[in-house]
Amino acid sequence: MKFSDLGLAPELVRAVQDERYETPTPIQTQGIPPALEGRDLIGSAQTGTGKTAVFVLPILHRLRTGHTSRLRALVLVPTRELAAQVAESVRTYGRHLPLKSAVVIGGVGLEPQRQRLRQGIDLLVATPGRLLDHLERGNVNFRSLEMVVLDEADRMLDMGFIQDVRKIFRALPAQRQTLLFSATMPEAIRQLAKEILREPVLVEVSRRSAPAEGIRQVVCPVGVSDKRHLLRHLLAEEKMLQALVFTRTKHGADKLSEFLGRNGHPVAAIHGNKSQSARTQALERFRQGRVGVLVATDVASRGLDVEGISHVVNFDVPRSPEDYVHRIGRTARAGRVGNALTLVSPEERPLIRAIEQLIGRRIPVREVTGYAVPRDSAQPLNPQGRSVGDKPWRQGGPATRFVKRGDRQRRRSW
Ligand code: AMP
Repeated sequence: MKFSDLGLAPELVRAVQDERYETPTPIQTQGIPPALEGRDLIGSAQTGTGKTAVFVLPILHRLRTGHTSRLRALVLVPTRELAAQVAESVRTYGRHLPLKSAVVIGGVGLEPQRQRLRQGIDLLVATPGRLLDHLERGNVNFRSLEMVVLDEADRMLDMGFIQDVRKIFRALPAQRQTLLFSATMPEAIRQLAKEILREPVLVEVSRRSAPAEGIRQVVCPVGVSDKRHLLRHLLAEEKMLQALVFTRTKHGADKLSEFLGRNGHPVAAIHGNKSQSARTQALERFRQGRVGVLVATDVASRGLDVEGISHVVNFDVPRSPEDYVHRIGRTARAGRVGNALTLVSPEERPLIRAIEQLIGRRIPVREVTGYAVPRDSAQPLNPQGRSVGDKPWRQGGPATRFVKRGDRQRRRSW
Protein backbone atom coordinates (compact mmCIF):
# COMPACT_ATOMS: atom_id res chain seq x y z
CA MET A 1 0.00 0.00 0.00
CA LYS A 2 1.31 3.45 -0.91
CA PHE A 3 0.15 6.92 0.18
CA SER A 4 -0.92 7.57 -3.39
CA ASP A 5 -3.36 4.62 -3.13
CA LEU A 6 -5.29 6.09 -0.21
CA GLY A 7 -7.27 8.62 -2.22
CA LEU A 8 -5.46 11.72 -0.93
CA ALA A 9 -5.10 14.91 -2.95
CA PRO A 10 -1.78 15.18 -4.85
CA GLU A 11 -0.64 18.13 -2.67
CA LEU A 12 -0.90 15.88 0.37
CA VAL A 13 0.82 12.91 -1.22
CA ARG A 14 3.62 15.30 -2.16
CA ALA A 15 3.88 16.62 1.41
CA VAL A 16 4.13 13.09 2.76
CA GLN A 17 6.78 12.29 0.20
CA ASP A 18 8.70 15.39 1.29
CA GLU A 19 8.75 13.80 4.74
CA ARG A 20 10.22 10.65 3.19
CA TYR A 21 7.51 8.44 4.59
CA GLU A 22 7.68 5.36 2.44
CA THR A 23 4.48 3.57 3.32
CA PRO A 24 1.44 4.40 5.42
CA THR A 25 1.43 2.85 8.89
CA PRO A 26 -1.32 0.28 9.63
CA ILE A 27 -3.64 2.80 11.25
CA GLN A 28 -3.16 5.16 8.31
CA THR A 29 -4.00 2.42 5.82
CA GLN A 30 -7.13 1.50 7.77
CA GLY A 31 -8.22 4.92 8.94
CA ILE A 32 -7.57 7.38 6.12
CA PRO A 33 -9.91 5.90 3.46
CA PRO A 34 -13.06 5.88 5.66
CA ALA A 35 -12.18 9.33 7.00
CA LEU A 36 -11.92 10.59 3.42
CA GLU A 37 -15.35 9.14 2.72
CA GLY A 38 -16.74 11.29 5.50
CA ARG A 39 -17.33 8.47 7.97
CA ASP A 40 -17.05 8.94 11.72
CA LEU A 41 -14.14 7.05 13.21
CA ILE A 42 -12.93 5.59 16.48
CA GLY A 43 -9.16 5.15 16.37
CA SER A 44 -7.91 2.94 19.12
CA ALA A 45 -4.26 3.82 18.87
CA GLN A 46 -1.50 5.21 20.98
CA THR A 47 0.90 7.92 19.88
CA GLY A 48 3.77 6.61 17.82
CA THR A 49 1.48 4.70 15.48
CA GLY A 50 1.16 7.58 13.03
CA LYS A 51 -2.37 8.43 14.19
CA THR A 52 -1.97 12.20 13.81
CA ALA A 53 -1.85 11.84 10.04
CA VAL A 54 -5.07 9.80 10.16
CA PHE A 55 -6.97 12.94 11.05
CA VAL A 56 -4.73 15.72 9.76
CA LEU A 57 -4.53 14.42 6.19
CA PRO A 58 -8.31 13.91 5.75
CA ILE A 59 -8.98 17.33 7.30
CA LEU A 60 -6.59 19.02 4.89
CA HIS A 61 -8.01 16.99 2.01
CA ARG A 62 -11.47 18.27 2.75
CA LEU A 63 -10.48 21.85 3.49
CA ARG A 64 -8.48 22.28 0.30
CA THR A 65 -11.70 22.98 -1.62
CA GLY A 66 -14.73 25.10 -0.79
CA HIS A 67 -14.80 28.14 1.47
CA THR A 68 -11.59 29.27 3.02
CA SER A 69 -11.09 31.41 6.11
CA ARG A 70 -14.12 29.93 7.82
CA LEU A 71 -13.59 27.66 10.74
CA ARG A 72 -14.31 24.26 9.20
CA ALA A 73 -12.22 21.87 11.29
CA LEU A 74 -11.48 21.61 15.01
CA VAL A 75 -8.98 19.33 16.74
CA LEU A 76 -9.33 19.02 20.50
CA VAL A 77 -6.27 17.80 22.39
CA PRO A 78 -5.61 17.43 26.13
CA THR A 79 -2.29 19.26 26.44
CA ARG A 80 -0.44 22.25 25.11
CA GLU A 81 2.45 20.14 23.90
CA LEU A 82 0.17 17.90 21.91
CA ALA A 83 -1.50 20.99 20.46
CA ALA A 84 1.88 22.23 19.29
CA GLN A 85 2.64 18.90 17.71
CA VAL A 86 -0.64 18.62 15.89
CA ALA A 87 -0.15 22.17 14.63
CA GLU A 88 3.29 21.19 13.42
CA SER A 89 1.79 18.23 11.51
CA VAL A 90 -0.77 20.58 9.99
CA ARG A 91 2.05 22.82 8.78
CA THR A 92 4.06 19.89 7.50
CA TYR A 93 1.30 18.09 5.64
CA GLY A 94 -0.38 21.31 4.58
CA ARG A 95 2.71 22.96 3.16
CA HIS A 96 1.43 22.81 -0.42
CA LEU A 97 -2.01 24.18 0.49
CA PRO A 98 -2.98 27.77 1.28
CA LEU A 99 -4.87 27.03 4.51
CA LYS A 100 -4.78 28.99 7.74
CA SER A 101 -4.69 27.39 11.14
CA ALA A 102 -4.47 28.57 14.73
CA VAL A 103 -3.67 27.10 18.11
CA VAL A 104 -5.66 27.98 21.19
CA ILE A 105 -4.15 26.76 24.47
CA GLY A 106 -4.13 27.82 28.10
CA GLY A 107 -1.18 29.40 29.86
CA VAL A 108 -0.60 32.13 27.27
CA GLY A 109 -2.38 35.43 26.58
CA LEU A 110 -5.97 35.42 25.35
CA GLU A 111 -5.70 38.55 23.26
CA PRO A 112 -3.31 37.38 20.52
CA GLN A 113 -5.48 34.25 20.18
CA ARG A 114 -8.61 36.37 19.91
CA GLN A 115 -7.04 38.43 17.17
CA ARG A 116 -5.92 35.35 15.29
CA LEU A 117 -9.41 33.86 15.54
CA ARG A 118 -10.87 37.11 14.20
CA GLN A 119 -8.61 37.02 11.15
CA GLY A 120 -10.46 34.01 9.83
CA ILE A 121 -8.94 30.57 9.99
CA ASP A 122 -9.76 27.23 8.43
CA LEU A 123 -8.58 24.92 11.14
CA LEU A 124 -8.23 25.25 14.90
CA VAL A 125 -6.22 23.10 17.30
CA ALA A 126 -7.29 23.67 20.89
CA THR A 127 -7.28 22.48 24.46
CA PRO A 128 -10.81 22.33 25.92
CA GLY A 129 -10.62 24.87 28.77
CA ARG A 130 -9.22 27.71 26.70
CA LEU A 131 -11.53 26.97 23.79
CA LEU A 132 -14.55 27.23 26.09
CA ASP A 133 -13.20 30.52 27.35
CA HIS A 134 -13.10 31.90 23.80
CA LEU A 135 -16.49 30.43 23.04
CA GLU A 136 -18.06 32.10 26.06
CA ARG A 137 -16.48 35.43 25.12
CA GLY A 138 -17.88 35.12 21.63
CA ASN A 139 -14.41 35.05 20.05
CA VAL A 140 -15.14 31.93 18.08
CA ASN A 141 -18.19 30.37 16.53
CA PHE A 142 -18.72 26.86 15.34
CA ARG A 143 -21.37 27.44 12.67
CA SER A 144 -19.24 26.37 9.71
CA LEU A 145 -17.56 23.41 11.39
CA GLU A 146 -17.55 20.27 9.28
CA MET A 147 -14.94 18.07 10.95
CA VAL A 148 -14.14 17.61 14.62
CA VAL A 149 -11.41 15.48 16.16
CA LEU A 150 -11.13 14.46 19.78
CA ASP A 151 -7.56 13.29 20.26
CA GLU A 152 -6.31 11.28 23.25
CA ALA A 153 -9.81 11.08 24.67
CA ASP A 154 -8.68 8.88 27.56
CA ARG A 155 -6.23 11.57 28.63
CA MET A 156 -9.01 14.14 28.52
CA LEU A 157 -10.83 11.92 30.95
CA ASP A 158 -7.79 11.44 33.23
CA MET A 159 -7.16 15.16 33.29
CA GLY A 160 -10.73 15.98 34.21
CA PHE A 161 -11.66 17.64 30.89
CA ILE A 162 -14.60 15.47 29.98
CA GLN A 163 -17.25 17.92 31.12
CA ASP A 164 -15.59 20.70 29.15
CA VAL A 165 -15.47 18.40 26.14
CA ARG A 166 -19.18 17.64 26.50
CA LYS A 167 -19.96 21.35 26.69
CA ILE A 168 -18.00 21.98 23.52
CA PHE A 169 -19.75 19.17 21.69
CA ARG A 170 -23.12 20.56 22.70
CA ALA A 171 -22.18 23.77 20.89
CA LEU A 172 -21.18 22.00 17.66
CA PRO A 173 -23.36 21.64 14.57
CA ALA A 174 -25.15 18.28 14.55
CA GLN A 175 -24.20 17.77 10.93
CA ARG A 176 -20.48 17.08 11.05
CA GLN A 177 -17.84 14.38 10.78
CA THR A 178 -16.32 13.32 14.09
CA LEU A 179 -13.14 11.35 14.70
CA LEU A 180 -12.21 10.10 18.16
CA PHE A 181 -8.80 8.75 19.12
CA SER A 182 -7.89 7.07 22.36
CA ALA A 183 -5.07 4.77 23.42
CA THR A 184 -7.36 2.96 25.84
CA MET A 185 -11.14 2.63 25.86
CA PRO A 186 -12.47 3.00 29.39
CA GLU A 187 -16.25 2.82 29.84
CA ALA A 188 -16.62 6.61 30.08
CA ILE A 189 -15.00 7.02 26.68
CA ARG A 190 -17.22 4.35 25.10
CA GLN A 191 -20.19 6.23 26.48
CA LEU A 192 -18.92 9.53 25.14
CA ALA A 193 -18.27 7.90 21.76
CA LYS A 194 -21.91 6.80 21.66
CA GLU A 195 -23.02 10.35 22.29
CA ILE A 196 -20.84 12.15 19.78
CA LEU A 197 -20.27 9.67 16.93
CA ARG A 198 -22.62 8.36 14.27
CA GLU A 199 -22.11 4.80 13.07
CA PRO A 200 -18.38 5.03 13.51
CA VAL A 201 -15.85 2.82 11.78
CA LEU A 202 -13.55 1.27 14.36
CA VAL A 203 -9.88 1.16 13.53
CA GLU A 204 -7.64 -0.49 15.99
CA VAL A 205 -3.93 -1.02 15.79
CA SER A 206 -2.18 -3.55 17.94
CA ARG A 207 -3.85 -5.01 20.93
CA ARG A 208 -5.48 -2.47 23.16
CA SER A 209 -2.98 -1.03 25.62
CA ALA A 210 -0.15 -2.98 24.07
CA PRO A 211 3.07 -0.98 23.83
CA ALA A 212 4.52 -0.68 20.35
CA GLU A 213 6.64 -3.59 19.23
CA GLY A 214 10.28 -2.61 19.12
CA ILE A 215 10.43 -1.29 22.68
CA ARG A 216 12.88 -3.23 24.78
CA GLN A 217 11.40 -3.09 28.24
CA VAL A 218 13.26 -3.86 31.40
CA VAL A 219 12.81 -3.24 35.11
CA CYS A 220 15.74 -2.50 37.43
CA PRO A 221 15.19 -3.23 41.12
CA VAL A 222 16.77 -0.58 43.33
CA GLY A 223 16.30 1.05 46.74
CA VAL A 224 14.56 4.43 46.68
CA SER A 225 17.59 6.35 47.89
CA ASP A 226 19.84 4.72 45.27
CA LYS A 227 17.61 5.56 42.33
CA ARG A 228 19.34 8.75 41.29
CA HIS A 229 22.78 7.13 41.49
CA LEU A 230 21.57 4.19 39.45
CA LEU A 231 20.19 6.61 36.88
CA ARG A 232 23.56 8.33 36.59
CA HIS A 233 25.23 4.96 36.18
CA LEU A 234 22.74 3.94 33.48
CA LEU A 235 23.02 7.24 31.62
CA ALA A 236 26.72 6.60 31.20
CA GLU A 237 26.64 2.84 30.85
CA GLU A 238 23.81 2.65 28.35
CA LYS A 239 25.08 5.55 26.24
CA MET A 240 21.68 7.15 26.40
CA LEU A 241 21.84 9.80 23.71
CA GLN A 242 18.34 11.16 24.20
CA ALA A 243 16.68 10.04 27.37
CA LEU A 244 13.27 11.06 28.55
CA VAL A 245 13.06 10.52 32.31
CA PHE A 246 9.70 10.46 34.05
CA THR A 247 9.08 11.38 37.64
CA ARG A 248 5.75 11.24 39.40
CA THR A 249 5.82 14.71 40.91
CA LYS A 250 6.86 18.20 39.84
CA HIS A 251 9.04 18.49 42.91
CA GLY A 252 10.67 15.16 42.08
CA ALA A 253 11.35 16.39 38.54
CA ASP A 254 13.04 19.54 39.86
CA LYS A 255 15.13 17.65 42.40
CA LEU A 256 16.25 15.09 39.90
CA SER A 257 17.16 17.59 37.21
CA GLU A 258 19.18 19.58 39.75
CA PHE A 259 21.01 16.45 40.79
CA LEU A 260 21.80 15.44 37.22
CA GLY A 261 22.83 18.99 36.35
CA ARG A 262 25.20 19.10 39.33
CA ASN A 263 26.70 15.84 38.17
CA GLY A 264 27.56 16.98 34.70
CA HIS A 265 24.54 15.85 32.68
CA PRO A 266 23.07 18.58 30.49
CA VAL A 267 19.41 18.35 31.41
CA ALA A 268 16.10 20.15 30.95
CA ALA A 269 12.82 19.68 32.79
CA ILE A 270 9.16 20.13 31.91
CA HIS A 271 6.23 20.00 34.27
CA GLY A 272 3.00 21.77 35.04
CA ASN A 273 4.54 24.44 37.27
CA LYS A 274 6.77 25.72 34.52
CA SER A 275 5.57 28.52 32.33
CA GLN A 276 4.59 27.72 28.79
CA SER A 277 7.68 29.45 27.44
CA ALA A 278 9.98 27.52 29.81
CA ARG A 279 8.36 24.28 28.70
CA THR A 280 8.67 25.12 25.03
CA GLN A 281 12.28 26.15 25.51
CA ALA A 282 13.16 22.97 27.41
CA LEU A 283 11.54 20.84 24.74
CA GLU A 284 13.37 22.71 22.00
CA ARG A 285 16.75 22.25 23.70
CA PHE A 286 16.03 18.54 24.00
CA ARG A 287 14.79 18.31 20.41
CA GLN A 288 17.93 19.95 19.10
CA GLY A 289 20.11 17.61 21.14
CA ARG A 290 21.55 20.45 23.23
CA VAL A 291 20.57 18.52 26.33
CA GLY A 292 20.57 14.73 26.36
CA VAL A 293 18.14 14.30 29.23
CA LEU A 294 14.65 15.65 29.61
CA VAL A 295 13.01 15.13 32.98
CA ALA A 296 9.23 15.26 32.76
CA THR A 297 6.02 14.56 34.59
CA ASP A 298 3.19 12.68 32.89
CA VAL A 299 0.97 15.63 32.16
CA ALA A 300 3.73 17.72 30.66
CA SER A 301 4.89 14.95 28.41
CA ARG A 302 1.54 13.85 27.06
CA GLY A 303 1.71 13.20 23.36
CA LEU A 304 5.22 14.52 23.23
CA ASP A 305 6.77 13.54 19.94
CA VAL A 306 10.50 13.93 19.71
CA GLU A 307 12.34 12.00 17.07
CA GLY A 308 15.09 9.70 18.17
CA ILE A 309 14.33 9.28 21.87
CA SER A 310 16.57 6.30 22.51
CA HIS A 311 15.52 5.68 26.09
CA VAL A 312 12.52 6.25 28.28
CA VAL A 313 13.36 5.91 31.96
CA ASN A 314 10.66 5.62 34.56
CA PHE A 315 12.40 7.06 37.57
CA ASP A 316 9.16 6.44 39.47
CA VAL A 317 6.79 3.69 38.48
CA PRO A 318 3.59 5.36 37.29
CA ARG A 319 0.53 4.86 39.49
CA SER A 320 -1.69 4.08 36.57
CA PRO A 321 -0.68 1.23 34.26
CA GLU A 322 -2.05 3.19 31.29
CA ASP A 323 0.49 5.91 32.01
CA TYR A 324 3.23 3.31 31.68
CA VAL A 325 2.06 2.51 28.17
CA HIS A 326 1.86 6.21 27.32
CA ARG A 327 5.26 6.93 28.75
CA ILE A 328 7.16 4.18 27.00
CA GLY A 329 5.32 5.00 23.78
CA ARG A 330 7.60 8.08 23.52
CA THR A 331 10.38 5.81 22.29
CA ALA A 332 10.41 3.42 19.31
CA ARG A 333 8.17 5.79 17.35
CA ALA A 334 6.90 4.70 13.96
CA GLY A 335 8.58 1.35 13.86
CA ARG A 336 11.98 2.25 15.26
CA VAL A 337 13.65 0.51 18.20
CA GLY A 338 13.78 2.00 21.68
CA ASN A 339 14.45 1.15 25.27
CA ALA A 340 12.27 1.55 28.31
CA LEU A 341 13.86 1.16 31.72
CA THR A 342 11.84 1.29 34.90
CA LEU A 343 13.54 1.79 38.27
CA VAL A 344 11.53 -0.14 40.81
CA SER A 345 11.84 0.18 44.55
CA PRO A 346 10.49 -2.67 46.69
CA GLU A 347 7.35 -0.65 47.53
CA GLU A 348 6.63 -0.17 43.84
CA ARG A 349 6.59 -3.84 42.89
CA PRO A 350 2.78 -4.17 43.07
CA LEU A 351 2.52 -1.36 40.50
CA ILE A 352 4.68 -3.37 38.13
CA ARG A 353 2.39 -6.35 38.54
CA ALA A 354 -0.57 -4.20 37.52
CA ILE A 355 1.35 -2.96 34.48
CA GLU A 356 2.24 -6.49 33.48
CA GLN A 357 -1.38 -7.45 33.72
CA LEU A 358 -2.38 -4.60 31.47
CA ILE A 359 0.23 -5.26 28.81
CA GLY A 360 -0.27 -8.99 29.09
CA ARG A 361 3.35 -9.90 29.50
CA ARG A 362 6.12 -9.98 32.02
CA ILE A 363 8.88 -7.42 31.89
CA PRO A 364 12.39 -8.83 32.19
CA VAL A 365 14.29 -7.86 35.33
CA ARG A 366 17.76 -6.48 35.07
CA GLU A 367 19.78 -6.36 38.25
CA VAL A 368 22.52 -3.80 38.04
CA THR A 369 25.58 -4.71 40.04
CA GLY A 370 25.87 -2.55 43.11
CA TYR A 371 22.31 -1.27 43.07
CA ALA A 372 19.84 -4.14 43.13
CA VAL A 373 17.77 -5.05 46.15
CA PRO A 374 16.99 -8.61 47.07
CA ARG A 375 13.51 -9.91 46.50
CA ASP A 376 12.32 -9.95 50.07
CA SER A 377 14.07 -6.83 51.28
CA ALA A 378 12.82 -3.31 51.52
CA GLN A 379 16.40 -2.05 51.66
CA PRO A 380 19.27 -2.10 49.20
CA LEU A 381 21.49 -5.07 49.91
CA ASN A 382 24.80 -3.38 49.42
CA PRO A 383 25.42 -0.43 51.69
CA GLN A 384 29.16 -1.08 51.38
CA GLY A 385 29.03 -1.56 47.67
CA ARG A 386 28.79 -5.33 47.89
CA SER A 387 27.84 -6.70 44.53
CA VAL A 388 24.44 -8.20 44.34
CA GLY A 389 24.54 -8.58 40.60
CA ASP A 390 25.20 -12.26 40.99
CA LYS A 391 22.35 -12.80 43.33
CA PRO A 392 19.08 -13.50 41.62
CA TRP A 393 15.88 -12.45 43.35
CA ARG A 394 14.79 -16.02 43.27
CA GLN A 395 17.58 -18.54 43.44
CA GLY A 396 17.69 -20.71 40.36
CA GLY A 397 15.63 -18.37 38.18
CA PRO A 398 16.52 -18.84 34.55
CA ALA A 399 19.12 -16.33 33.40
CA THR A 400 18.36 -14.66 30.10
CA ARG A 401 20.89 -14.15 27.43
CA PHE A 402 21.21 -10.43 28.07
CA VAL A 403 24.22 -10.57 30.36
CA LYS A 404 26.07 -7.33 29.95
CA ARG A 405 29.22 -5.95 31.54
CA GLY A 406 28.55 -7.28 34.96
CA ASP A 407 24.90 -6.31 34.88
CA ARG A 408 22.65 -9.22 34.82
CA GLN A 409 19.27 -9.34 33.31
CA ARG A 410 16.97 -12.07 34.46
CA ARG A 411 13.56 -13.29 33.63
CA ARG A 412 11.60 -11.89 36.42
CA SER A 413 10.68 -13.22 39.82
CA TRP A 414 8.62 -10.60 41.52
P1 AMP B 1 1.99 9.97 15.81
O1 AMP B 1 1.58 8.60 16.26
O2 AMP B 1 1.00 10.58 14.92
O3 AMP B 1 2.36 10.84 16.97
O4 AMP B 1 3.30 9.82 14.88
C1 AMP B 1 4.51 9.35 15.37
C2 AMP B 1 5.69 9.70 14.48
O5 AMP B 1 5.67 8.92 13.28
C3 AMP B 1 5.74 11.14 14.00
O6 AMP B 1 7.07 11.59 14.22
C4 AMP B 1 5.45 11.10 12.53
O7 AMP B 1 6.15 12.10 11.84
C5 AMP B 1 5.93 9.72 12.15
N1 AMP B 1 5.15 9.12 11.05
C6 AMP B 1 3.82 9.22 10.85
N2 AMP B 1 3.45 8.50 9.77
C7 AMP B 1 4.56 7.91 9.29
C8 AMP B 1 4.81 7.04 8.19
N3 AMP B 1 3.85 6.61 7.38
N4 AMP B 1 6.09 6.63 7.99
C9 AMP B 1 7.08 7.05 8.81
N5 AMP B 1 6.91 7.88 9.88
C10 AMP B 1 5.66 8.30 10.11
